[in-house]
Amino acid sequence: MTMKLKHFLVCASMALVCGLAALTSCGSRNSDEKNTAEEDSVPMCSCPHAVICIQPYGNYTKQEASRLLPVLEENFGKWMYGGWQFKVLEPKPLPEAAYVKERDRYRAGTILQELSKNPKKVDGMDAVYIGIAHKDICTDIHNTKNYGIMGLSYCPGNVCVVSDHRIKTKSMVWKLMLHEFCHAFYGAKHCPNDDPKCFMKDAKGKGNVEVQNWLCDSCKR
Ligand SMILES: [Zn+2]
Ligand SMILES: [Zn+2]
Ligand SMILES: [Zn+2]
Repeated sequence: MTMKLKHFLVCASMALVCGLAALTSCGSRNSDEKNTAEEDSVPMCSCPHAVICIQPYGNYTKQEASRLLPVLEENFGKWMYGGWQFKVLEPKPLPEAAYVKERDRYRAGTILQELSKNPKKVDGMDAVYIGIAHKDICTDIHNTKNYGIMGLSYCPGNVCVVSDHRIKTKSMVWKLMLHEFCHAFYGAKHCPNDDPKCFMKDAKGKGNVEVQNWLCDSCKR
């Protein structure tokens, strides 16, 4: 994998921290980078494929994560052309090194670093890791240290983390996962149409997952 540009993309909040690096990435990484050693286990078609590994953190249970699978499968299949497999990993404690005691939050960047240590391939396919937690997560933006966010990813990259702490309808956390996956896997930017219904709309501090119901024509893959 050639793209280790560590641009953070911050979602809950106002800023697109992701830089120009995102422009260079979309789409083609699968077909170009497979090599002969892996061809046996790699699907024959050239469309994007990934194994999406969901990593529950802290008191987010494996059962809760598993309950998201049907809606994830349905919507990834609907809005993103390709082959998507999901796995739920065994829950892990949130990394102690990520804890910010004063705010009772966990630093998302530290969680991403931990997720990055996982294998890059699973079952011969590119693996994308999505950490999920109930606890609040944060990063440094807008000259504010440990600013609370809903999700963070390497853009582009293969790791993301989301928290349902800041959304009212917790069962809709899958929309944050889809949003972060697009940042990571495709290097996607926020919705150019600023469509409130689009999963890729920049939440600008007040995420409104309740009204999101599609990837608009500009954001669809
Ligand atoms: Zn975002
Ligand atoms: Zn395919
Ligand atoms: Zn859009």
